[in-house]
Amino acid sequence: MSDPASGEAGTPGEADSNTDSSADASADASADASADANTLADAQAKIFACDDVDALKAVEREFVGKQGVVAQLLASISKLPPEQRRGVGQQANALKQGVQEAVQNRQQTLAEARVAADRQGEGFDASLPPPRPRRGSLHPLTQVTRELEDLFQSMGYTVLDGPEIETDYYNFEALNIHADHPARDSHDTFFCEGDGHLVMRTHTSPVQIRALETLKPPLRVVVPGKVFRHESTDASHDHTFHQMEGLVVDRDISVAHLVGAMKTLLRGIFDRDLEVRLRPGYFPFVEPGFELDARCPFCQEGCRVCKRTRWIELLPCGLVHPNVLRAGGLDPDEWGGFAFGLGLSRLVMLRHNIDDVRHLLGGDVRFLEQF
Ligand SMILES: [Zn+2]
Repeated sequence: MSDPASGEAGTPGEADSNTDSSADASADASADASADANTLADAQAKIFACDDVDALKAVEREFVGKQGVVAQLLASISKLPPEQRRGVGQQANALKQGVQEAVQNRQQTLAEARVAADRQGEGFDASLPPPRPRRGSLHPLTQVTRELEDLFQSMGYTVLDGPEIETDYYNFEALNIHADHPARDSHDTFFCEGDGHLVMRTHTSPVQIRALETLKPPLRVVVPGKVFRHESTDASHDHTFHQMEGLVVDRDISVAHLVGAMKTLLRGIFDRDLEVRLRPGYFPFVEPGFELDARCPFCQEGCRVCKRTRWIELLPCGLVHPNVLRAGGLDPDEWGGFAFGLGLSRLVMLRHNIDDVRHLLGGDVRFLEQF
Protein backbone atom coordinates (compact mmCIF):
# COMPACT_ATOMS: atom_id res chain seq x y z
CA MET A 1 0.00 0.00 0.00
CA SER A 2 1.41 3.42 -0.90
CA ASP A 3 1.88 6.05 1.72
CA PRO A 4 -0.85 8.66 1.36
CA ALA A 5 1.50 11.45 2.57
CA SER A 6 3.83 11.06 -0.41
CA GLY A 7 1.19 11.93 -2.99
CA GLU A 8 0.08 15.36 -1.88
CA ALA A 9 -0.06 16.69 -5.43
CA GLY A 10 -2.93 14.35 -6.26
CA THR A 11 -6.58 15.29 -6.13
CA PRO A 12 -9.13 14.23 -8.74
CA GLY A 13 -9.43 17.87 -9.90
CA GLU A 14 -5.73 18.16 -10.63
CA ALA A 15 -5.71 14.87 -12.46
CA ASP A 16 -8.43 16.22 -14.73
CA SER A 17 -6.53 19.42 -15.45
CA ASN A 18 -3.44 17.37 -16.32
CA THR A 19 -5.42 15.50 -18.91
CA ASP A 20 -6.89 18.69 -20.28
CA SER A 21 -3.43 20.13 -20.88
CA SER A 22 -2.48 16.78 -22.47
CA ALA A 23 0.30 16.14 -19.99
CA ASP A 24 2.22 12.91 -20.35
CA ALA A 25 0.67 9.64 -19.29
CA SER A 26 2.98 8.96 -16.37
CA ALA A 27 2.02 12.19 -14.61
CA ASP A 28 -1.59 11.18 -15.12
CA ALA A 29 -1.09 7.78 -13.61
CA SER A 30 0.71 9.09 -10.55
CA ALA A 31 -1.98 11.66 -9.94
CA ASP A 32 -4.64 8.95 -10.15
CA ALA A 33 -2.69 6.72 -7.81
CA SER A 34 -2.41 9.51 -5.26
CA ALA A 35 -6.10 10.30 -5.46
CA ASP A 36 -6.77 6.64 -4.92
CA ALA A 37 -4.36 6.53 -2.00
CA ASN A 38 -6.09 9.48 -0.38
CA THR A 39 -9.50 7.86 -0.69
CA LEU A 40 -8.12 4.59 0.57
CA ALA A 41 -6.40 6.28 3.51
CA ASP A 42 -9.68 7.98 4.28
CA ALA A 43 -11.48 4.62 4.18
CA GLN A 44 -8.85 2.96 6.32
CA ALA A 45 -9.12 5.66 8.95
CA LYS A 46 -12.91 5.27 9.05
CA ILE A 47 -12.66 1.49 9.24
CA PHE A 48 -10.12 1.65 12.04
CA ALA A 49 -12.41 3.94 14.01
CA CYS A 50 -15.25 1.38 13.99
CA ASP A 51 -15.89 -0.24 17.34
CA ASP A 52 -18.62 -2.66 16.34
CA VAL A 53 -19.72 -4.76 13.41
CA ASP A 54 -22.68 -2.57 12.45
CA ALA A 55 -20.53 0.54 12.09
CA LEU A 56 -18.03 -1.49 10.10
CA LYS A 57 -20.76 -2.67 7.74
CA ALA A 58 -21.91 0.91 7.21
CA VAL A 59 -18.40 2.03 6.22
CA GLU A 60 -18.03 -0.98 3.98
CA ARG A 61 -21.30 -0.06 2.25
CA GLU A 62 -20.15 3.54 1.85
CA PHE A 63 -17.14 2.44 -0.16
CA VAL A 64 -17.93 -0.89 -1.82
CA GLY A 65 -21.74 -0.97 -1.59
CA LYS A 66 -24.04 -0.82 -4.61
CA GLN A 67 -24.09 3.01 -4.50
CA GLY A 68 -20.62 3.28 -2.96
CA VAL A 69 -17.52 5.19 -3.98
CA VAL A 70 -16.14 2.29 -6.01
CA ALA A 71 -19.41 1.81 -7.86
CA GLN A 72 -19.53 5.52 -8.72
CA LEU A 73 -15.96 5.44 -9.96
CA LEU A 74 -16.74 2.48 -12.19
CA ALA A 75 -19.92 4.14 -13.45
CA SER A 76 -17.98 7.26 -14.39
CA ILE A 77 -15.58 5.35 -16.64
CA SER A 78 -17.82 5.37 -19.67
CA LYS A 79 -17.88 9.18 -19.66
CA LEU A 80 -14.08 9.51 -19.60
CA PRO A 81 -11.76 9.90 -22.58
CA PRO A 82 -10.39 6.47 -23.59
CA GLU A 83 -6.84 7.13 -22.38
CA GLN A 84 -8.05 7.70 -18.80
CA ARG A 85 -10.33 4.71 -18.52
CA ARG A 86 -7.68 2.17 -17.73
CA GLY A 87 -6.24 4.27 -14.92
CA VAL A 88 -9.59 4.90 -13.26
CA GLY A 89 -10.52 1.23 -13.58
CA GLN A 90 -7.33 0.21 -11.82
CA GLN A 91 -7.89 2.87 -9.19
CA ALA A 92 -11.40 1.54 -8.47
CA ASN A 93 -10.18 -2.03 -8.18
CA ALA A 94 -7.30 -1.10 -5.89
CA LEU A 95 -9.66 0.87 -3.69
CA LYS A 96 -12.13 -2.01 -3.52
CA GLN A 97 -9.43 -4.50 -2.62
CA GLY A 98 -7.86 -2.19 -0.04
CA VAL A 99 -11.19 -1.51 1.66
CA GLN A 100 -12.13 -5.21 1.75
CA GLU A 101 -8.77 -6.11 3.28
CA ALA A 102 -9.05 -3.41 5.91
CA VAL A 103 -12.62 -4.47 6.78
CA GLN A 104 -11.51 -8.06 7.16
CA ASN A 105 -8.63 -7.11 9.43
CA ARG A 106 -10.82 -4.90 11.54
CA GLN A 107 -13.43 -7.66 11.81
CA GLN A 108 -10.83 -10.06 13.10
CA THR A 109 -9.49 -7.53 15.59
CA LEU A 110 -13.01 -6.88 16.89
CA ALA A 111 -13.70 -10.63 17.20
CA GLU A 112 -10.46 -11.19 19.10
CA ALA A 113 -11.24 -8.27 21.39
CA ARG A 114 -14.67 -9.76 22.10
CA VAL A 115 -13.19 -13.14 23.02
CA ALA A 116 -10.58 -11.46 25.23
CA ALA A 117 -13.33 -9.49 26.97
CA ASP A 118 -15.37 -12.69 27.52
CA ARG A 119 -12.36 -14.34 29.08
CA GLN A 120 -12.07 -11.54 31.58
CA GLY A 121 -15.72 -11.97 32.44
CA GLU A 122 -17.07 -13.80 35.46
CA GLY A 123 -17.60 -17.56 35.33
CA PHE A 124 -15.08 -18.20 32.57
CA ASP A 125 -13.16 -21.41 33.17
CA ALA A 126 -10.52 -22.25 30.60
CA SER A 127 -10.29 -25.83 31.88
CA LEU A 128 -13.89 -26.74 30.97
CA PRO A 129 -14.33 -28.92 27.84
CA PRO A 130 -15.78 -27.09 24.84
CA PRO A 131 -19.48 -27.64 24.11
CA ARG A 132 -19.85 -30.63 21.82
CA PRO A 133 -22.20 -30.61 18.86
CA ARG A 134 -25.13 -32.99 19.37
CA ARG A 135 -24.61 -36.21 17.51
CA GLY A 136 -27.51 -37.95 15.88
CA SER A 137 -27.80 -41.67 15.28
CA LEU A 138 -28.87 -43.92 12.46
CA HIS A 139 -32.57 -44.63 12.16
CA PRO A 140 -33.38 -48.14 13.44
CA LEU A 141 -34.59 -49.05 9.94
CA THR A 142 -31.25 -47.98 8.48
CA GLN A 143 -29.41 -49.98 11.13
CA VAL A 144 -31.35 -53.18 10.37
CA THR A 145 -31.09 -52.64 6.61
CA ARG A 146 -27.31 -52.26 6.80
CA GLU A 147 -26.91 -55.30 9.05
CA LEU A 148 -28.95 -57.43 6.67
CA GLU A 149 -27.08 -56.12 3.64
CA ASP A 150 -23.82 -57.16 5.32
CA LEU A 151 -25.27 -60.55 6.20
CA PHE A 152 -26.53 -61.25 2.68
CA GLN A 153 -23.36 -59.96 1.06
CA SER A 154 -21.42 -62.44 3.20
CA MET A 155 -23.64 -65.13 1.64
CA GLY A 156 -22.79 -63.97 -1.88
CA TYR A 157 -25.84 -61.81 -2.55
CA THR A 158 -25.73 -58.54 -4.47
CA VAL A 159 -27.64 -55.56 -3.07
CA LEU A 160 -29.87 -53.93 -5.70
CA ASP A 161 -32.02 -50.84 -5.83
CA GLY A 162 -35.15 -50.18 -7.86
CA PRO A 163 -37.55 -47.34 -8.69
CA GLU A 164 -40.21 -46.46 -6.10
CA ILE A 165 -42.58 -45.43 -8.87
CA GLU A 166 -43.15 -48.45 -11.05
CA THR A 167 -45.06 -49.27 -14.18
CA ASP A 168 -48.13 -51.44 -13.87
CA TYR A 169 -46.20 -54.05 -15.85
CA TYR A 170 -43.34 -54.47 -13.38
CA ASN A 171 -45.45 -54.08 -10.25
CA PHE A 172 -48.22 -56.47 -11.32
CA GLU A 173 -48.30 -57.97 -14.83
CA ALA A 174 -44.81 -59.44 -14.97
CA LEU A 175 -45.29 -60.87 -11.48
CA ASN A 176 -48.22 -62.96 -12.65
CA ILE A 177 -50.80 -60.55 -11.18
CA HIS A 178 -52.95 -59.70 -14.19
CA ALA A 179 -55.35 -56.80 -14.41
CA ASP A 180 -58.38 -58.83 -13.33
CA HIS A 181 -56.50 -60.85 -10.70
CA PRO A 182 -58.13 -60.81 -7.24
CA ALA A 183 -54.66 -60.49 -5.64
CA ARG A 184 -54.67 -56.85 -6.77
CA ASP A 185 -57.27 -56.18 -4.09
CA SER A 186 -54.68 -56.68 -1.36
CA HIS A 187 -52.31 -54.31 -3.15
CA ASP A 188 -54.44 -51.18 -3.07
CA THR A 189 -52.00 -48.48 -4.05
CA PHE A 190 -51.52 -44.93 -5.26
CA PHE A 191 -51.84 -44.53 -8.98
CA CYS A 192 -49.91 -41.60 -10.37
CA GLU A 193 -51.73 -39.00 -12.42
CA GLY A 194 -51.13 -39.11 -16.12
CA ASP A 195 -51.30 -42.21 -18.23
CA GLY A 196 -52.54 -44.41 -15.36
CA HIS A 197 -49.79 -46.96 -15.80
CA LEU A 198 -47.50 -45.66 -13.10
CA VAL A 199 -48.00 -46.75 -9.49
CA MET A 200 -46.21 -46.25 -6.21
CA ARG A 201 -44.77 -49.75 -5.94
CA THR A 202 -46.69 -51.98 -3.55
CA HIS A 203 -43.76 -54.34 -2.93
CA THR A 204 -40.08 -54.67 -3.75
CA SER A 205 -40.84 -57.66 -6.01
CA PRO A 206 -40.78 -55.66 -9.31
CA VAL A 207 -37.00 -55.61 -8.91
CA GLN A 208 -37.09 -59.40 -9.37
CA ILE A 209 -38.07 -58.83 -12.99
CA ARG A 210 -35.59 -55.99 -13.42
CA ALA A 211 -32.83 -58.22 -12.03
CA LEU A 212 -33.76 -61.10 -14.32
CA GLU A 213 -33.75 -58.76 -17.31
CA THR A 214 -30.34 -57.28 -16.60
CA LEU A 215 -28.30 -59.93 -14.76
CA LYS A 216 -27.29 -63.31 -16.07
CA PRO A 217 -28.25 -66.32 -13.93
CA PRO A 218 -27.15 -67.84 -11.63
CA LEU A 219 -27.85 -64.84 -9.41
CA ARG A 220 -28.52 -63.94 -5.78
CA VAL A 221 -29.87 -60.51 -4.99
CA VAL A 222 -31.53 -58.64 -2.15
CA VAL A 223 -33.45 -55.40 -2.60
CA PRO A 224 -34.18 -53.25 0.43
CA GLY A 225 -36.55 -50.34 -0.06
CA LYS A 226 -39.71 -48.39 0.58
CA VAL A 227 -43.09 -49.64 -0.56
CA PHE A 228 -46.52 -48.03 -0.47
CA ARG A 229 -50.12 -49.07 0.12
CA HIS A 230 -53.32 -47.13 0.19
CA GLU A 231 -54.12 -48.07 3.81
CA SER A 232 -56.17 -46.72 6.66
CA THR A 233 -53.31 -46.42 9.10
CA ASP A 234 -53.38 -48.04 12.52
CA ALA A 235 -50.85 -49.52 14.95
CA SER A 236 -49.87 -52.25 12.52
CA HIS A 237 -50.51 -50.59 9.13
CA ASP A 238 -48.89 -47.59 7.53
CA HIS A 239 -49.09 -46.22 3.99
CA THR A 240 -45.29 -46.41 3.66
CA PHE A 241 -43.16 -49.24 4.98
CA HIS A 242 -39.91 -51.04 4.28
CA GLN A 243 -39.26 -54.44 2.77
CA MET A 244 -36.31 -56.47 1.68
CA GLU A 245 -36.83 -58.65 -1.34
CA GLY A 246 -34.64 -61.68 -1.92
CA LEU A 247 -34.22 -63.62 -5.15
CA VAL A 248 -32.01 -66.58 -5.94
CA VAL A 249 -31.98 -68.11 -9.42
CA ASP A 250 -29.96 -71.17 -10.25
CA ARG A 251 -30.31 -74.69 -11.57
CA ASP A 252 -31.94 -77.36 -9.36
CA ILE A 253 -33.20 -75.01 -6.65
CA SER A 254 -35.49 -76.65 -4.09
CA VAL A 255 -37.44 -75.69 -0.97
CA ALA A 256 -34.49 -77.03 1.07
CA HIS A 257 -32.29 -74.20 -0.28
CA LEU A 258 -34.98 -71.71 0.70
CA VAL A 259 -35.24 -73.06 4.26
CA GLY A 260 -31.45 -73.14 4.61
CA ALA A 261 -31.13 -69.50 3.54
CA MET A 262 -33.92 -68.42 5.88
CA LYS A 263 -32.32 -70.20 8.85
CA THR A 264 -29.04 -68.43 8.18
CA LEU A 265 -30.93 -65.16 7.97
CA LEU A 266 -32.61 -65.77 11.35
CA ARG A 267 -29.32 -66.71 12.97
CA GLY A 268 -27.92 -63.40 11.74
CA ILE A 269 -30.86 -61.40 13.09
CA PHE A 270 -31.41 -63.08 16.46
CA ASP A 271 -27.92 -64.44 17.11
CA ARG A 272 -29.09 -68.01 17.61
CA ASP A 273 -30.69 -70.93 15.80
CA LEU A 274 -34.46 -70.71 15.66
CA GLU A 275 -36.82 -73.46 14.63
CA VAL A 276 -38.86 -72.56 11.53
CA ARG A 277 -42.00 -73.92 9.94
CA LEU A 278 -43.62 -73.45 6.54
CA ARG A 279 -47.33 -73.01 6.07
CA PRO A 280 -48.89 -72.93 2.64
CA GLY A 281 -49.45 -69.37 1.46
CA TYR A 282 -50.72 -67.95 -1.81
CA PHE A 283 -48.71 -65.34 -3.68
CA PRO A 284 -49.17 -65.20 -7.45
CA PHE A 285 -45.46 -64.90 -8.22
CA VAL A 286 -44.35 -68.07 -6.40
CA GLU A 287 -45.36 -71.71 -6.75
CA PRO A 288 -45.44 -73.32 -4.24
CA GLY A 289 -45.79 -70.36 -1.86
CA PHE A 290 -45.29 -70.37 1.91
CA GLU A 291 -45.60 -68.32 5.03
CA LEU A 292 -42.48 -68.86 7.04
CA ASP A 293 -42.89 -68.78 10.81
CA ALA A 294 -40.10 -68.82 13.35
CA ARG A 295 -40.13 -69.86 17.00
CA CYS A 296 -40.79 -66.80 19.13
CA PRO A 297 -37.36 -65.58 20.23
CA PHE A 298 -38.83 -63.77 23.25
CA CYS A 299 -40.50 -66.54 25.24
CA GLN A 300 -40.76 -70.23 26.10
CA GLU A 301 -44.40 -70.25 27.13
CA GLY A 302 -46.07 -67.75 24.82
CA CYS A 303 -46.08 -63.98 25.09
CA ARG A 304 -47.75 -60.84 23.76
CA VAL A 305 -45.45 -60.67 20.72
CA CYS A 306 -46.31 -64.18 19.52
CA LYS A 307 -49.91 -63.82 20.68
CA ARG A 308 -49.35 -66.88 22.93
CA THR A 309 -48.77 -69.17 19.92
CA ARG A 310 -44.96 -69.43 20.35
CA TRP A 311 -44.64 -68.80 16.59
CA ILE A 312 -44.14 -65.49 14.86
CA GLU A 313 -45.12 -64.94 11.27
CA LEU A 314 -41.95 -63.78 9.62
CA LEU A 315 -42.07 -63.67 5.86
CA PRO A 316 -43.79 -64.85 2.71
CA CYS A 317 -41.60 -66.91 0.40
CA GLY A 318 -41.66 -69.64 -2.21
CA LEU A 319 -40.20 -71.01 -5.41
CA VAL A 320 -40.26 -68.54 -8.28
CA HIS A 321 -43.31 -69.05 -10.52
CA PRO A 322 -42.46 -70.22 -14.06
CA ASN A 323 -44.39 -67.24 -15.50
CA VAL A 324 -42.13 -64.85 -13.60
CA LEU A 325 -39.03 -66.59 -14.96
CA ARG A 326 -40.51 -66.34 -18.44
CA ALA A 327 -41.27 -62.63 -17.94
CA GLY A 328 -37.60 -62.21 -17.05
CA GLY A 329 -36.57 -63.98 -20.25
CA LEU A 330 -35.54 -67.31 -18.68
CA ASP A 331 -36.57 -70.85 -19.57
CA PRO A 332 -38.32 -72.37 -16.51
CA ASP A 333 -37.28 -75.86 -17.63
CA GLU A 334 -33.65 -74.84 -17.28
CA TRP A 335 -33.75 -72.39 -14.36
CA GLY A 336 -35.46 -72.34 -10.98
CA GLY A 337 -35.27 -70.14 -7.95
CA PHE A 338 -36.69 -68.98 -4.67
CA ALA A 339 -37.84 -65.59 -3.48
CA PHE A 340 -38.77 -64.05 -0.16
CA GLY A 341 -40.08 -60.73 1.08
CA LEU A 342 -38.82 -59.68 4.46
CA GLY A 343 -40.80 -56.98 6.24
CA LEU A 344 -38.08 -54.67 7.53
CA SER A 345 -40.49 -52.43 9.40
CA ARG A 346 -41.95 -55.45 11.14
CA LEU A 347 -38.49 -56.76 11.97
CA VAL A 348 -37.47 -53.46 13.55
CA MET A 349 -40.68 -53.50 15.61
CA LEU A 350 -39.96 -57.03 16.76
CA ARG A 351 -36.39 -56.28 17.66
CA HIS A 352 -37.10 -53.14 19.67
CA ASN A 353 -40.52 -54.15 20.96
CA ILE A 354 -42.18 -51.17 19.24
CA ASP A 355 -45.95 -51.32 19.52
CA ASP A 356 -46.97 -48.93 16.75
CA VAL A 357 -45.59 -48.96 13.20
CA ARG A 358 -46.41 -45.26 12.79
CA HIS A 359 -43.58 -44.36 15.17
CA LEU A 360 -41.05 -45.47 12.55
CA LEU A 361 -41.74 -42.73 10.02
CA GLY A 362 -43.41 -40.28 12.38
CA GLY A 363 -40.27 -38.18 12.68
CA ASP A 364 -40.72 -37.67 16.43
CA VAL A 365 -37.29 -36.95 17.87
CA ARG A 366 -38.27 -38.33 21.31
CA PHE A 367 -38.77 -41.70 19.61
CA LEU A 368 -35.68 -41.52 17.42
CA GLU A 369 -33.38 -40.47 20.26
CA GLN A 370 -33.76 -43.91 21.79
CA PHE A 371 -31.68 -45.62 19.11
ZN1 LIG B 1 -43.50 -65.28 22.40
